[in-house]
Amino acid sequence: MIVAWRLRGPVLGLLVAGAGLALGCASRPPAAPPGAPRPSAPPTAEPAVRSRVPLAAAPSRASRTVELGRSVRGRPIEAVVFEGGSRCVLILGGIHGSEPSSADLAGRLVEHLKGRPQDLAGKRVLVIPRANPDGLAAGTRWNARGVDLNRNFATDNFEPCARNGRAALSEPESRALVRAIALYRPSCVVSVHAPLNCIDADGVDASYALAREMARVSPLPVNDLPAMPGSLGSYAGDELGLKMITYELDRKKTPGNSPAAYLDSHLPALLAAIGRG
Ligand SMILES: [Zn+2]
Repeated sequence: MIVAWRLRGPVLGLLVAGAGLALGCASRPPAAPPGAPRPSAPPTAEPAVRSRVPLAAAPSRASRTVELGRSVRGRPIEAVVFEGGSRCVLILGGIHGSEPSSADLAGRLVEHLKGRPQDLAGKRVLVIPRANPDGLAAGTRWNARGVDLNRNFATDNFEPCARNGRAALSEPESRALVRAIALYRPSCVVSVHAPLNCIDADGVDASYALAREMARVSPLPVNDLPAMPGSLGSYAGDELGLKMITYELDRKKTPGNSPAAYLDSHLPALLAAIGRG
C-alpha cells in the first residue's frame, strides 16, 4: 500500500527538513511550498550509530542502536533499528513515564527480534523502548518540564497550555519522535501505553483493520478511544495518514503470570503489526 502523506503546517516543515536525510521506507514527500512554516528544531543530522552487532551477523538482519535526541535532563532517546527490508514499522513505549510496562514490552520486543530475526517479516523495524526517559526515571506521566508528550504533537487539534506545551513540539522528546518518523518513514506506528486495556486505531481504515488483526492474537480487545488533542495518534494517524495503533496494556500484570510471561503474551500482537504494518 502506498502511504498517503498529507502534509501541512509545521509537520510539512519537519518532514521536508528530514527528507534529505531519509533512510528510506517510503517515497519522499513533495517539496515545501514557499512560506511553509519551519519547525522549531528540524532534524539536522543522521542519528549517531551507538553500537553494531558483530560483523558475523548477516547484514540484512543486523540491528543497531541510534540516538534520536536527548531528553530535557539530557538522557538519550534511543531507537533500536532492525534491518529486515525497506518497508518500516515503528514501535515505541514509555511516552508516558508512569506506564513502565509499556517500556518493558518494547524492550522485550527488542530482545525477541534479536533472537528471531525471521520475525522481522521482511521489514525494517524501529523500536524506541523509552520515549520519555525522564518521566520513566521519575515515575511521572510527563517529561521533566511537566508536559504530556502525547499532547505535544503538531496536529490540527493541538491545544497549547502548560500541560500540553505552550507550542506544538516544544519538547525535545516529542521532536525526537517526529525526527524518527521523518527519517525512517514508517508505514505503521504502534505506541504502547497502559492501562486502558484495549487496542485503539487512528486515521486510515487500514489502521482499524490492523487493530482487528492484532486483537486476534492479543489478550486485548479493540476499542475506539477518542482522539486526543496533540497526540501521536492524531499526528501519525490523522495528519500523516499512517497506520496508527495505540496499544493499551491493562492496569496490572496478569495475576498468576510471571512478568516475562505477561510481556510475552503481548508479543504476537506486536509481531502481527510488524507483519502487516
Ligand atoms: Zn499513556
